[in-house]
Amino acid sequence: MQIPLLDLAAQYRPIREEIRSAIDEVCETQSFILGEAVEKLEQDIAAYCDCDAACGVSSGSDALLVSLMAEGIGHGDEVITTPYTFFATVGAISRVGAKPVFVDIDKETYNIRADLIESKINERTKALIIVHLFGHAADMDPIMDVARRHNLVVIEDAAQSIGSEYKARRLGSIGDYGCFSFFPSKNLGCFGDGGIVVTNDSSRHKRLVNLRNHGSSTKYYHENIGGNFRLDALQAKILSVKLKYLDSWTSGRQRVAGEYVRLLTEQGLEKDVITPTCAAYCNRHVYNQFCLRITAGRRDDVISGLNAAGIGSNIYYPLPLHLQECYADLEYKKGDFPESEKLAAEALAIPVYPELDGEQCEYIVDTISKCLAC
Ligand SMILES: *Cc1c(COP(=O)(O)O)cnc(C)c1O
Repeated sequence: MQIPLLDLAAQYRPIREEIRSAIDEVCETQSFILGEAVEKLEQDIAAYCDCDAACGVSSGSDALLVSLMAEGIGHGDEVITTPYTFFATVGAISRVGAKPVFVDIDKETYNIRADLIESKINERTKALIIVHLFGHAADMDPIMDVARRHNLVVIEDAAQSIGSEYKARRLGSIGDYGCFSFFPSKNLGCFGDGGIVVTNDSSRHKRLVNLRNHGSSTKYYHENIGGNFRLDALQAKILSVKLKYLDSWTSGRQRVAGEYVRLLTEQGLEKDVITPTCAAYCNRHVYNQFCLRITAGRRDDVISGLNAAGIGSNIYYPLPLHLQECYADLEYKKGDFPESEKLAAEALAIPVYPELDGEQCEYIVDTISKCLAC
């Protein structure tokens, strides 16, 4: 049996004809940049995320970048975030010239610890970028509380968490900006790069729309220095087709996650293999990744066993961002964020895509069990 970490071909097969006719429609119009297809997607994603408006952009990375730009954040400013995320979260802060300031993660949810944020706030702090990792919500109530008390902008990095909820509120709708990625491996992926920013604030939305198109509202007249952060019509059309299936794919991911927890417990593996928790406040976990913690230094054994059995797995993430070479000048050192460093040594994502069946889940858990027995 061969089970890749993600099987996008299996997702494509049943919707192939629908996608191809959507692509054809764009080809017939030869209208590729922004336009009706993008506007339609913006309306649908805003509605899906319980937000007033959305601004389609070129990637999840640019969604974060343009949100920081819309707040005028730059040199001399600090932005607080987690060291345990994909690089783009922190890269966006550096790209506007601001300084990333890290706060360690909660060991259960892998998201930023709300109670540690306040001690890092000073007069230079302008914003928080809150990542909802692997599809699980960060603890937004205390985060919004500290942000409001200190007058900080809150940018939600929900790239891995479209449709996920915090206390029945869609992620991306709680902070001032909600950033999403349509990278192919995200829960709603396009056929290349794409992203979107949602917001409930109409003046912020106006700034985003202006900045994504070189700061220009009237052609060749520029009020601001923006960039080319536009979303393609082709990608928007494809995404509009796929959005209709997102809820059923999410249920599939939840089913697979439930299956794993049941099987791992049945096999008595809950000591060596810690399954992801789902906090009560996260009432709709969307499982972009199902990340196990393999304790007792056994992760390499499990990886090689899975490899030999034809099963894909991946380490998200092997090196926390405070220890990356490009951030040496921030002068963080090993030991500064112990929970992030511990997770980096233990995390292992296994396949969690909705097309997996019960037999495949069993095979995967059996393989893990065998790896740990020897
Ligand atoms: C994927 C991802 C991004 C970046 O999105 P791209 O579309 O790849 O630029 C940002 N933050 C997180 C947490 C991500 O997982």
